[in-house]
Amino acid sequence: MTYYIGDVIKDEKLLIARTPEEFEKTGVTVKTRTGVEEIDPNKGKVRLNNGSNLPYDTLVLATGSNVFLPDIPGIHEEGVFKLKDLRDGIDIKTYIKEKQCGSDKCRKAIILGAGFIAMEMCEALRNLGLETSVVYRGELPIRRWDAEFSKLLLGKLTENNVEFITHRMPVAIEKKGKKPGLCLITNDGEMDADIIIFALGVKSNTALAEQIGLKIGNTGAVMVDYSQRTSREEIYAVGDCCGVYHRIKQQWVHMPLGDIANKQGRVAGANIGGHAMTFPGIVGAQSFKVFDLEVAKTGIDEWEAEQFGFHPVSTIIWGTPSARSMSKGKKLGLKMVANKSTGKLLGAQAVGEGGAVTKINTLSACLWSGMNLDEIGYIDLAYSPSFGGAWDPIQIAAQMLRKML
Ligand SMILES: Cc1cc2nc3c(=O)[nH]c(=O)nc-3n(C[C@H](O)[C@H](O)[C@H](O)COP(=O)(O)OP(=O)(O)OC[C@H]3O[C@@H](n4cnc5c(N)ncnc54)[C@H](O)[C@@H]3O)c2cc1C
Repeated sequence: MTYYIGDVIKDEKLLIARTPEEFEKTGVTVKTRTGVEEIDPNKGKVRLNNGSNLPYDTLVLATGSNVFLPDIPGIHEEGVFKLKDLRDGIDIKTYIKEKQCGSDKCRKAIILGAGFIAMEMCEALRNLGLETSVVYRGELPIRRWDAEFSKLLLGKLTENNVEFITHRMPVAIEKKGKKPGLCLITNDGEMDADIIIFALGVKSNTALAEQIGLKIGNTGAVMVDYSQRTSREEIYAVGDCCGVYHRIKQQWVHMPLGDIANKQGRVAGANIGGHAMTFPGIVGAQSFKVFDLEVAKTGIDEWEAEQFGFHPVSTIIWGTPSARSMSKGKKLGLKMVANKSTGKLLGAQAVGEGGAVTKINTLSACLWSGMNLDEIGYIDLAYSPSFGGAWDPIQIAAQMLRKML
């Protein structure tokens, strides 16, 4: 969606995986612009917002998540947006384009939040030529990554003329004189903008599940088992609205990501269709790109490791995305965390101008299969100067960390 807003993807139709008509051909009826208002689990039917009822034998909840929006005055002013679905993406792009073409210029954007969606939005808005500021309550962007990596990302924002304003929280938004002028009032001063975008995170949409008393997990998401069944046998839940088993934490977590939603949907569908299947869980792999920087992680960091009773050791190494002689000054940072008592990998993070996602995907597979540092230190990886040195940063970091056990 951020690539659509930033005009890398020109046509919104390219973001639609399958149209209602294509679904129809495979025997699936899609009712668009139709909401479920109520479920009657005893009679096996749902009440729609057009007043009609739909009966079911099996029900799948795939209600996604809700964007967190602070309850502040002015949050619904024209020019204030959230970014959750395609409609939001189209509205943001249309708003900017219309204002840019008209007399009310759209020049200045404020993004609230500093997670992956906020970071992707920085690139999109700079692509459209907008002055862009990030307003964040903390000190550094992407707080789930090591501070050393967050600082590199901050440098990338600065290099691309994105202003990063720390220790600020929104208090109110006011309309200012000439359209489309807005004023963001924070705990520490006021800022003018033409568009304000909230990217402060999401929480599971459990409204329907709670209505019928389905069990909700500690994470606030619908509780499911490995088959995606909820606490009622005939009701399944998949995607952002439900929990997922984290294989390293050995605990159910809420991780609202698209690849997980896809897999859970397939598992639920297979089970409903009579082909028994379980979802084996996740190790927490995730990635994004901001300008030319790849950012990725898998597993857990030292802080989480301590919470889950491990004794973590960690190391950060700085290498290059290709052989040093060919890297033209490009950097690749890799952090690895392992359990001191078993020598097993617990997590990894990578940031770099190329290569970071490949490193993390490899380490995710290592983590998935429970490999220890001795195995990772000599794992067979492809070598070619275009992609790195004879010793891959993965092997170097694993060998360094091995010495710390
Ligand atoms: C800007 C952006 C970028 C992202 N990038 C990535 C990425 O790079 N990688 C990644 O893994 N994930 C990414 N995600 C997350 C990913 O989009 C979600 O994890 C995924 O869409 C979840 O799928 P879902 O089907 O569970 O929920 P959704 O896609 O949110 O779908 C839920 C649907 O249910 C509908 N609904 C809710 N309540 C009702 C009701 N009562 N009646 C009828 N319909 C209802 C909603 O309208 C919505 O259409 C991104 C998210 C955003 C916003």
